Amino acid sequence: MLVSFDDPYHTNVYIIFGDKQVFVLDTFLGNDSMKTVQQLIVDEGYVDKHIVVFNSHADYDHYWGNGAFKDATIIGHKHCKDRVMSEGKASLVKYADHQRGAIELIPPNRTFQHTLNFEGEGVRFFHSPGHSLDSSSCFDERDGVLFVGDNVESPLPYLNHVNFDQYIRSLESYLEFDWKYVIAGHDQLLKEPDLINRNIDYLRKFSEWSLDLDSFSVTELHRHVEHNLITIKNELMNSEHKQDMMKHLEDLNNYIA
Ligand SMILES: [Zn+2]
Repeated sequence: MLVSFDDPYHTNVYIIFGDKQVFVLDTFLGNDSMKTVQQLIVDEGYVDKHIVVFNSHADYDHYWGNGAFKDATIIGHKHCKDRVMSEGKASLVKYADHQRGAIELIPPNRTFQHTLNFEGEGVRFFHSPGHSLDSSSCFDERDGVLFVGDNVESPLPYLNHVNFDQYIRSLESYLEFDWKYVIAGHDQLLKEPDLINRNIDYLRKFSEWSLDLDSFSVTELHRHVEHNLITIKNELMNSEHKQDMMKHLEDLNNYIA
């Protein structure tokens, strides 16, 4: 069951009603935001089943609601747990306006490095670094649903590191699954691979410094410059991309002028 929120921005939470447990994929912005999800679990008659929460990564909008699931197993990549513990408090201050109900900063209590399988349920969690180094995904085999967190995003993905090749590999791995639907953190339900392919194309051209600025929409240009370049600038400066980046910044200046 897909639960989508629109306040303060579009975000997806996905519930898998299994035989033995209920899986809640991402927990959004606080305990109030999870009331709908808790009610759905009651309404579907799963109130006595064990709850398994999954945090696709440790950006605040994907785990602030963990506290709503008291006795739950909370699954996340090892780096996800580390990030919740090291960045959680600062996120409460930085994104205070986005808080929806009480927040307890609860990190994953069951971590994995590569994959974690619930074979009897046809549910598999796996590390898929990209948008962040801790980014992980879930394949729900019974319903053919691939949940990818913020790795897939329109119109362009948000980069946080100079990890183009790794990110592209994760996106390409999504194309190998036999899915009917892809659920990305902040987009409408995807039934076709177009957006994944467009995201790969952007990352590839970015890594080769062959982006065509003329083809960018205003929103794309804004995300590329105001988020991606600014966020990864220091890492780029300290990498083999330094010269290309300087040239790109010059091109951008000319383009914007
Ligand atoms: Zn997000």
